[in-house]
Amino acid sequence: MNVPELFASNVFNDEVMKNSLPKEVYKSLRKTIDEGQPLDSSIASSVANAMKDWAISKGATHYTHWFQPLTNLTAEKHDGFIEPSGDRAIMQLTGKNLIVGEPDASSFPSGGTRATYSARGYTAWDPTSPAFVKEGTLYIPTVFVSYTGETLDKKAPLLKSMTALDIQAKRLLKLFGIECRKVSTTVGPEQEYFIVDEKVYLKRKDLILTGRTLFGAPSSRGQELEDHYFGVLKTRISEFMRDLDETLWSYGIYAKTKHNEVAPAQHELAPIFSTTNVSVDDNQLTMELMKKVAQRHGLVCLLHEKPFEGINGSGKHNNWSLSTDTGINLLDPSETPESDTRFMLILACVIAAVDRYQGVLRASVASAGNDHRLGANEAPPAIISVYLGDQLGALVDSIVMGREYVPKKAVPGSIGVPESPIFPIDTTDRNRTSPFAFTGNKFEFRMLGSMASVADPNIVLNTIVAESFSDATEVLSKAKDFEKACKDYTAKLLKEHYRIIFNYNGYGPDWEPEAEKRGLLNNKTTADAVPEFFKQENIDVFVHQGVYTEKEVIARANIQLENYIKTINIEALTMAEMVRQDIYPRVNRYITEVCSAVTAKKKVGEHISCKSDVMLAERLSMMNDAILFAVEKLERDLAEMPAGEGPASQKMAHVIVPDMEAIRNIADGMEKLCSSDYWPYPSYEDLLYSVR
Ligand code: ADP
Ligand code: MG
Repeated sequence: MNVPELFASNVFNDEVMKNSLPKEVYKSLRKTIDEGQPLDSSIASSVANAMKDWAISKGATHYTHWFQPLTNLTAEKHDGFIEPSGDRAIMQLTGKNLIVGEPDASSFPSGGTRATYSARGYTAWDPTSPAFVKEGTLYIPTVFVSYTGETLDKKAPLLKSMTALDIQAKRLLKLFGIECRKVSTTVGPEQEYFIVDEKVYLKRKDLILTGRTLFGAPSSRGQELEDHYFGVLKTRISEFMRDLDETLWSYGIYAKTKHNEVAPAQHELAPIFSTTNVSVDDNQLTMELMKKVAQRHGLVCLLHEKPFEGINGSGKHNNWSLSTDTGINLLDPSETPESDTRFMLILACVIAAVDRYQGVLRASVASAGNDHRLGANEAPPAIISVYLGDQLGALVDSIVMGREYVPKKAVPGSIGVPESPIFPIDTTDRNRTSPFAFTGNKFEFRMLGSMASVADPNIVLNTIVAESFSDATEVLSKAKDFEKACKDYTAKLLKEHYRIIFNYNGYGPDWEPEAEKRGLLNNKTTADAVPEFFKQENIDVFVHQGVYTEKEVIARANIQLENYIKTINIEALTMAEMVRQDIYPRVNRYITEVCSAVTAKKKVGEHISCKSDVMLAERLSMMNDAILFAVEKLERDLAEMPAGEGPASQKMAHVIVPDMEAIRNIADGMEKLCSSDYWPYPSYEDLLYSVR
C-alpha cells in the first residue's frame, strides 16, 4: 500500500488544480480560497471544465451539489454530465452548473422561514472545501440558501462565523502590531462509535428505527474490567478499520489515530485537524463512510450517543484553536505565558465568551440522543466550565487574587526503569472530566454528541469569541499605555468570569451544588437548553457578528426542538409497538409454558415441587400486566400533546421520557426472568460480544 499515492486520490485538491488550470485562473481561485476574495465569475467555466475532465478520468458520470441541510446529514441530488449534441452525447459541466444549483427546497426543515409554496432554494459552490469523486459522482461542496436569502444549512453560517472571527481577530492583532492576511479556526474532531454484527442488528427493531436500544437488560459483563480501552483489536474490527482508513485517505481525510474505547464494542477515530470548514465536511463524510465501510464487513456502525444503557455513550471531542496564515497559533502559551500579554488577553477573551454565552454553547450540542450522555456518569456534566490545568490555572488564580505568580517548571522525569529515557514531564496532568479543557495549544470542547454535525458548536464558538475580540478591541484601541491597558483588561475579564473556571473533578458529587452557587447554568435536557437561543442577548451576538439574522436564530432553535420532539415521538411509538407486538405475546407464551409445566408436574404427583414455577408465572404475569398499563399511559400522554415547540418539548422531556423509562424498567426486569428461547430480541451480550 502506497499511502502517499493513495492519499487524496479522489480529491480535486490544490495539486490537481495547479496542474489542470490555466495559471491566471489558478491564481485567482487561490485568492478566493486563501483570502476570502469574492469568486471571479469569469473563471468559473474554466474551473468547471477542468473539474469535469478530472472527475471523468476518475470514472465519474454525474455531479452533485453536496450540502448540509438542518438535519445532521448531508444531502445530494445527482445530475449527469451528459448533454445532447446533435444525435450524440457530450459530457459537460458549465460554470453556472458549478456555481449554483436549484434543488427543490420545500422538504427540508426551515423552521418556518419559508412557506412550502415558495420552495426555491439555491446551492452555491464553496471553493474553500475541495470537491471529490465518490462512487461515480463528482461532489461539489455547497452552501444552501433560500430565494429570500435566509440560510437553510449549516455551512453558510459556519463560513460567516469564520469570517467574523477572522475580521475581529485581525483587528485585535493589529493592536499588537501583527499584520496577517487571515486568521482561521482549526478543528480536529475525535469521533467515537460502536460496531455490532449486522446479523444481530437486523433482529433489533429499536436499533433499526431509532439507532439505540430501547430495551435491554445489562449484560453480566459490562465495562467494569476496564479491559477494552486501548485493548487489542479483534480481527474483524481491525480489518474494518484498515479498510476505513484507506477509504478516508483516498478522500483526503487525515485519519490518524484509532483505538478501542471504554465500552465493549466501542471505538474511536481521530483525524489530524484542519480548518474548521474542511473539518466539518470531512467529519460528515467520515460518518457516512464509517457506515458504508462497516456494511462491507457485515458490520453496522452505530453513531448514536447512547446505543446501550449502562455502558459509556459516544461523543465527539472538538479540538479548537485559531491561527494566522503566517503560522502563529493564537492559543499557544509559549514558554512563559505570564509575560505573554497577547496570549493572556486571548485566553481571557475565550474564557469570557464561554462564560457569557454558556447557555447557547450548551444548547448547540443539545439533542435527544445527547441528553442520555450529558450529566450521566461518563460524559461531561450539562454544566459548562473551563479547565485550565495546573500551570495556567495557577497563573489565572494569581491574577484574580492579585498575588505574585511563581512559575512551576516542567521537570525532567523518568518512568523509573533504568533503560528508559529521561523525558520532560508535562506541567499539567490531563483532565478528562471537563467539558471545555485547555489542552496545550487548543481548547477541547467535549460535550458534542457522536451523531451530530460539528458545525453547530463551532458556529457558536467562533461567533462568541469574535464578539469577545471585538469588545476587547473597542476598549484597547483607545488606550494610551497599551501594555498596561491590556493587562488591566485581561485581569478585569478574568475576575468577572472567574466562576466558569473549574480545575477539579467535573464528575464529582460536589460540583453540581458548587456550580449552582456560582450561578452557572445546568440545563439537563434539550427542552430546557435550547430556549437559551431565544434570549435577546444571545440573539444579539449572532446578529452583531453577522452570522444569523434574528429570524434565523429563532427558526434554527425551533427546528432543534422540533427534531427533539420528533425523535422522542418515534422512540415512544417504536417502544409501544415492540411491547404490544413482541414482548407481551412472547412473555405470555413463556408463562403458558411454565404453567403447563406445573400441570404436567402435578399429574406425576404431589411430591414434585411446582413452587418456583408458580411464583415465576405469577411474577411474570404481574409484570406483563404492568407493562401494558404503562404502554397505555404512554399512548395517552402522546395523544395529548400541547401545541407549540416549547410546551411540546417540555412534555417530551418531563412526561414522555419518564413514561418510557418506566416501560423499559419492567421490560428489562422481565428479560432477566424470561427464557432466552422466548425473549424476542438478541440480548446485550449478543450485541456487544458477537464480533470476533
Ligand atoms: P488527545 O486528546 O489524546 O490529547 P491530541 O492532543 O493528539 O489528542 O489531539 C487530539 C486532536 O486534536 C487531534 O485530532 C489533533 O489533530 C487535534 N489538534 C491538535 N492541534 C490542534 C489545533 N491547533 N487546532 C485544532 N485541533 C488540533
Ligand atoms: Mg480528546
